[in-house]
Amino acid sequence: MKVLVTGGAGYIGSMVCIELLNEGHDVFIVDNFSNSEMGTITKIMGITGKMVQYANVDITDRTALEVIFRSYQFDSVIHLAGKKSVSESIENPLQYYYDNLIGTVMLVQLMQQYDVQSIIFSSSATVYHPASICPIQETATLKSSSPYGRTKLAIENFFRELTAAHSNFSVVLLRYFNPIGAHSSGEMGEKPLEVPNNLLPYLMDAVSGKRPILEVFGNDYDTVDGSGVRDFIHVEDLAKGHIKALYYSMQNTGCEAFNLGSGTGYSVLQLIDTFAKVNEIDVPYHIGLRREGDIPVSFADISKAQRFLGWRPNKTLEEMCIDAWRWQLKLLKEQHVEAQIVFPSKKTV
Ligand code: UDP
Repeated sequence: MKVLVTGGAGYIGSMVCIELLNEGHDVFIVDNFSNSEMGTITKIMGITGKMVQYANVDITDRTALEVIFRSYQFDSVIHLAGKKSVSESIENPLQYYYDNLIGTVMLVQLMQQYDVQSIIFSSSATVYHPASICPIQETATLKSSSPYGRTKLAIENFFRELTAAHSNFSVVLLRYFNPIGAHSSGEMGEKPLEVPNNLLPYLMDAVSGKRPILEVFGNDYDTVDGSGVRDFIHVEDLAKGHIKALYYSMQNTGCEAFNLGSGTGYSVLQLIDTFAKVNEIDVPYHIGLRREGDIPVSFADISKAQRFLGWRPNKTLEEMCIDAWRWQLKLLKEQHVEAQIVFPSKKTV
């Protein structure tokens, strides 16, 4: 198949491209490189030994995007391009609605115009009501608490209405839980060019001395140790879910949502402990206040994805931590930064 991957140079997009290429598909990447690097494309080709076509195009640039649609007949689109910071979305909702919503609408206009009827959309667990019962099923009430989350929800609603009106259209909504880890080759992983948003980049910054310490946002939740609980999923497992979704989309029309998580909840302190143990390194942290807007516990029911996509995650929390740190060390070397271990460590970096 020939697949257009928007945001294909990003953390998740690049892993999706590797999986697509490994499965023998042709990949065309569209990325504006606002939070990714062109070097990632070279790495994708290096890891897979396959050629990738790409264009430095913003999906809101309809004219540039149309040139691509006119030149290639895609079988499907995997749509990951968009902005993804909750805090930034509160400061700049206009940008979030413009990039995420308008970008998606333009993409779908072109898909219709050029007769592409399948799309896999990167949604998020943030679309679920904060008070959802865990494990969260896809049928749970949808209500997001940030502009970022509401752009995802608005796009989901748009796709539901679109498929109701156009019965030959196929949309798979993938609701990601908390992707972490890096490619098992050690060659690729998360490299946020903007301020990081998530726990693991902060944890690794604290371990490598880029930040003095990791702040754990609260230890007074009603959880196993008081810290927040999340569903961490290895990014490679997550990427494989996209391939399964692509095959599902080829066989089915309509709009269907699937959770992609590990199905297990681990606390922030359990993650820190595992990371320290498997990498034989100390993680400097202190307990801070709860972060506004955080929910105590979130983990997925993944039985729908198992049943209908035939997908199941394989990697353990230990593997996620090992791969993440291996990649971080490589990155530090690439950046010629000597890792400064601020707390006594068992292993010299
Ligand atoms: N977290 C933390 N310190 C940080 C960043 C995150 O303790 O510097 C906690 C956060 O409160 C939550 C968990 O880690 O319980 C996952 O946070 P993240 O922002 O990665 O994902 P989300 O909250 O969107 O699921």
